[in-house]
Amino acid sequence: MDGLNKSIYDIGSDSAFSILARSNQLKKEGNEVINLGIGQPDFPTPKNVIDAAIKALRDGHHGYTSSNGIIELREAISEDYLTFQDVSVNPNDILITPGGKSIIFYTLLMLGQPGVEIITPDPGFVAYQSMIDYTGATGVPLPHRMENNFSFDADELLSLITEKTKLIILNSPANPTGGVVPIKEFEKLVNGLEEYPNIFILSDEIYSKILFDENSHISLLSFPNIRERVIVLDGWSKTFAMTGWRLGYGIFPKKLFKYAEKLAINCHSCVTTAVQYAGIEALRGSHDYVKKMVNEFELRRDFLTAELNKIPNVSCVKPGGAFYVFPKIEKDNLSSKGISDYLLEKKFLATVPGSAFGKNGEGFIRMSYASNLENLKKSILYLNEFINE
Ligand code: PMP
Repeated sequence: MDGLNKSIYDIGSDSAFSILARSNQLKKEGNEVINLGIGQPDFPTPKNVIDAAIKALRDGHHGYTSSNGIIELREAISEDYLTFQDVSVNPNDILITPGGKSIIFYTLLMLGQPGVEIITPDPGFVAYQSMIDYTGATGVPLPHRMENNFSFDADELLSLITEKTKLIILNSPANPTGGVVPIKEFEKLVNGLEEYPNIFILSDEIYSKILFDENSHISLLSFPNIRERVIVLDGWSKTFAMTGWRLGYGIFPKKLFKYAEKLAINCHSCVTTAVQYAGIEALRGSHDYVKKMVNEFELRRDFLTAELNKIPNVSCVKPGGAFYVFPKIEKDNLSSKGISDYLLEKKFLATVPGSAFGKNGEGFIRMSYASNLENLKKSILYLNEFINE
């Protein structure tokens, strides 16, 4: 111990970022690295969105905004919710943040503390568990199994609830698996949750518009009987290829909103003003670009899943959304970290070990297909070589 706040020793990190750093180093040394590690679209931000940000700067939008974000942006989100989810959202319940991740941070700062249990997806997005640990709360892993298409089982989830449970974190479509929770399973869960009126739900819906086949998204805000305790996380990063702009939002129950807003005021004051204007254009402008991107992701998913399943000792389900596949790989008793390290160091193929997402991720690796088809073809070749070495 070196005298820092003791919570800081428990905070985790996101291996996707350390793998990105290592990939960049290998690239700098002259290697041709294929990066299927980081979760960001390989498409540029749509031009109309970039133009809107430039115009906002030229129009003199250089100052702070209110810390919950400009009203036009919150109204645009509200319209988007009505169009896509048929749910009415009061713009005053929306908090604009620098990326969706801040919503995880703020929610856990409000609800996590020693003695509290938080049910969280396993495998699941790394920031959930890191932040749970930081607050001193106990994370209770909710298995998302391959044989269940990486969805959860509502009965299993309900069986994990104790008198200490304060929050349930859900994420559909999911990182790292691309799994989509069927609407029927959500309905079952919501019915079961009526018995537990003091439990909050954080629904991470950041991949809600990246869905394939017959899958459709249902926001947890659509269920009136739990609505007053649902926090929704969403944003622009994935849908509009805007990861580096840092723009996201949360929709909070009234009783939490004022505290979330205070955290925002004390932390980031407000999101970059011109970026907020770009966000309005993304939501109100044509969504053809998003459709094109999703179609391209779907082609890549079909290619990858078919090819992965041809490789001996590799099996993979076809994910319903997001832009990840999560194949199970067996090779010489290697751990998923061992496999991912080997692929990066020997084949210059960056992936993320499944174990980075929780103990149920052991035996799997995450491959992001936010990369062109040529790179995906090479990745299949390298995986084949690895399996046969
Ligand atoms: N939730 C999930 C499930 C994610 O995968 C990500 C990004 N990897 C985020 C939240 C955070 O997104 P942002 O870049 O908008 O902070």
